[in-house]
Amino acid sequence: MKPHFIPGIYNYCDRWCERCAYNHRCQIYAEEQKLSPEQKDPGNPAFWEYIQSNFRKAMEMVEAWAKKENIDWEAFREEALSEEEEQELSPGQQALDSLSRDYARRTLDWLKAQRDAFREYREELMSRLQLGISIGQEASRMNDAIEAIQWYSTMIPSKTSHALHAYRHQHEWYWDSPLQSDANGTAKVALLCIERSLGAWEALRQQLPEKADEIIDMLVILGKIRRGLLHYFPEADKFIRPGFDEPEA
Ligand code: SF4
Repeated sequence: MKPHFIPGIYNYCDRWCERCAYNHRCQIYAEEQKLSPEQKDPGNPAFWEYIQSNFRKAMEMVEAWAKKENIDWEAFREEALSEEEEQELSPGQQALDSLSRDYARRTLDWLKAQRDAFREYREELMSRLQLGISIGQEASRMNDAIEAIQWYSTMIPSKTSHALHAYRHQHEWYWDSPLQSDANGTAKVALLCIERSLGAWEALRQQLPEKADEIIDMLVILGKIRRGLLHYFPEADKFIRPGFDEPEA
């Protein structure tokens, strides 16, 4: 890794690379810039070959680490796999997991159903412009809100699910402390995605007051997911994300 890259920064980010203030210090971003159009297209075999080669490289790195730490990798892997099979989420965790997926489904359905409303709103702004009436930042604010809601709607369930499945491993020896465990860090990212979504929904509510009731339903679901995450990860905010929470980086 080149020295200006921040190790592990990509593990606890929102994956919105175009908008990331640290993309120049992220190795994943740098690698992705080297990909050909074919390697970025899931319909092309080159995409899957690239994924396969990355998995192979990752396995080689893990095996090299295990050797260095004097760990019997095969035994470690078998133990991890059998634990994974046994692993069940508690009923409360299952409910939270499923609520976060439900939120994503409802959000994407809602956005699809609003295409006409969004178009009408844009047309209204255009006609005001033609009349010489200033529209300020209204159009870009709405676009930003829609993009943020859409982006985070899929991040929220994936991060929530990951955090819940890693919940029982917070006290494993390989973390510096439970606060710095993968579960706690992933929960922090899920909560950040929720905060940003709440802000975006609120911006949309102000611009589309006729949709306020439907938007409030979404805010209520997000509020429940947020409460659920804080119940399982009350100290998620204490996790220090590489780069983002280290100003000196
Ligand atoms: S750290 Fe930034 S550039 Fe790197 S993967 Fe995350 S969002 Fe993308």
